[in-house]
Amino acid sequence: MVKVYLKKKITPRIAGGHPWIFRNEVDRVAGEVKAGDIVEVSYSDGKFAGRGYINPQSQILVRLLTRNRQEVIDEQFFHDRIARAWLYRQKLGYVENCRLVFGEADELPALVIDKFNDYFVLQTLSFGMECWKPAIVQALQSIFSPKGIYERNDVPVRELEGLKQQKGFLSAPFDTSIIINENGLKFHVDIENGQKTGYFLDQQDNRRAIQHIVKGADVLGAFTYTGTFEIHAAHYGAKSVLGLDISENAVAQANRNAALNGLDNICRFEAMNAFDVLKQWGKEGRQYDVVMLDPPAFTKSREQIQKAITGYKEINLRGMKLVKNGGFLVTSSCTNLVQPDLFLQTIEMAAKDARKKIRQVTFQAQASDHPIIWGVENTNYLKFLIVEVS
Ligand code: SAH
Repeated sequence: MVKVYLKKKITPRIAGGHPWIFRNEVDRVAGEVKAGDIVEVSYSDGKFAGRGYINPQSQILVRLLTRNRQEVIDEQFFHDRIARAWLYRQKLGYVENCRLVFGEADELPALVIDKFNDYFVLQTLSFGMECWKPAIVQALQSIFSPKGIYERNDVPVRELEGLKQQKGFLSAPFDTSIIINENGLKFHVDIENGQKTGYFLDQQDNRRAIQHIVKGADVLGAFTYTGTFEIHAAHYGAKSVLGLDISENAVAQANRNAALNGLDNICRFEAMNAFDVLKQWGKEGRQYDVVMLDPPAFTKSREQIQKAITGYKEINLRGMKLVKNGGFLVTSSCTNLVQPDLFLQTIEMAAKDARKKIRQVTFQAQASDHPIIWGVENTNYLKFLIVEVS
């Protein structure tokens, strides 16, 4: 096995648990390698650091899979890691739907697997992980005997690894329009054409957090996607719910979801640009008891963090202005580039500019099937905040 020697200065980060080794952090690669090869990584003093897969084409040259010298990287390794990930989710109370594998947080870097009851959607986002796709599929087959497995590798980040974007069946074909249960409600999930893996499981715990504040409330939701938060609001006793999303498809699916739960008399969804509409309605003086915002990541690159902060500030300012005195703003941010402290500062700035006083009700991260590894920043990405606004 080819050995990769690290530069001295990166020892603390790798020894501290971070699994990524960037190209400029490597002193030398002692041999010929090709993308996907398993290599042994050593610290500058020659001590064993771990084993992982290499990709000479990627900025992230090596991603570590194990720190255990005895552990062999083979089919069984992937089976055991996935079985361990499932055991963990079961311990936390997940039965039907969960993010079964959350990449780095499950020591399976660049692998995402969402479990929707008997159906599985996976993403292999690096060359090394792509090479083990057959082993991963085999492991899912043997642990779960699923009704279907689908890959949603139509993700631009794959191109940085020299992989093409693709999607399709990894099992016998099946009907990719499925229905899942969450918190006693039902939701259509479009595995083939929905956003990301089809459904945002990362908010599933947070959706329960609105239970008490929406009772008897007039609720406005923006960036609703298929209407999950809004339908929860109706289920928890909201008087009226209006949801907005820019995507016609999402709105159609949201209206179908409302009907599926018999809540279409309370919930209505419309295709609109939330940025424009919230500004306009603020000027008109419209007021709601609860405003919920869950915008997309405004940036994917570190260079554009300022742009993202401006976006978050602007949309939250507009949202706050629509909240009745003593009502609530429910707001999220889903990029790891804006870490929790910075997000809270941004909300504080928005409140100041909107001349509102806010009181923090709750501040959470993503659902606990997406565990956070301290020091591995990309595992800490979702912020979910409820504030009272006056
Ligand atoms: N709350 C959802 C996830 C929202 S994802 C859930 O829990 O399932 C973000 C959504 O914002 C996407 O559906 C996207 O279509 C929508 N979006 C993006 N830009 C928008 C805009 N300017 N106005 C309204 N919706 C927008």
